[in-house]
Amino acid sequence: MPSLFYPMRFDAVAVSCEHASNRIPARYQAYFRRARAALDSHRGWDIDALSVARAIARRCRAPIFAANASRLLIDLNRSPHHRALFSQWSRPLPSDARAAIVEGYYQPYRDRVEAHLRACLDRGESVLLLSVHSFTPIWEGVERTADIGFLYDPRRRGERILCAQWKDALAVAAPALRVRRNYPYRGTNDGFSVALRRSLRSARFACVELEFNQALLSRGNSATIAGVVAAALDRARNVAAPAALDAEVGVEPGAHGSTSPPHQR
Ligand SMILES: [Zn+2]
Repeated sequence: MPSLFYPMRFDAVAVSCEHASNRIPARYQAYFRRARAALDSHRGWDIDALSVARAIARRCRAPIFAANASRLLIDLNRSPHHRALFSQWSRPLPSDARAAIVEGYYQPYRDRVEAHLRACLDRGESVLLLSVHSFTPIWEGVERTADIGFLYDPRRRGERILCAQWKDALAVAAPALRVRRNYPYRGTNDGFSVALRRSLRSARFACVELEFNQALLSRGNSATIAGVVAAALDRARNVAAPAALDAEVGVEPGAHGSTSPPHQR
């Protein structure tokens, strides 16, 4: 039985930051008059995520795609029909205004990222998308027990191996960092990465959502953390199982990929 592998040595890396901004465009600000506190909190955006995303992109020489409006206007990391696509402040807008937000902010961002990834794949490259987020240290009174979370689809061998090796590399480079996989959320929950895996349908595409604890970044060390994380990523890619490196690209049974039946997507 032939061994099937995802590539571990990605030809290209891209960085995205869906919750980079807490900005509300002028024409919608009337709806957000009572939302100032929420906009400034972790509800409005992923605090410090953009600075760490930019530093990772620089370090990886990768293009970066970042939101220019708050997720309380529209959440770029939710599917079009998800109930949390719009917030309590944007949901009451008239339907044509909501449609304009989808057309003006949501679709252009999602299309731009997908088109970039598709262009990489069309050139025959393998591409890794790092979707950078941050999470609040305490959620509903409970302290989160990680500094960094890797969110991925465990059914995808490439993502699984990459994250295991990346975690190991970080444990050597920065033993004090608490790194957890698929924490504080699951990589298979509704999100942009799940949508991309479905629509790109390529084993040469991998996506990891990098979740940073805002307490870690609030010490003003985004660039340092980004350097450590990116250096560990380099090591993780280089120590990948040799058999997998140049093997023909394939998919595991049950993974999202060209050979899995539609009902498994
Ligand atoms: Zn986020």
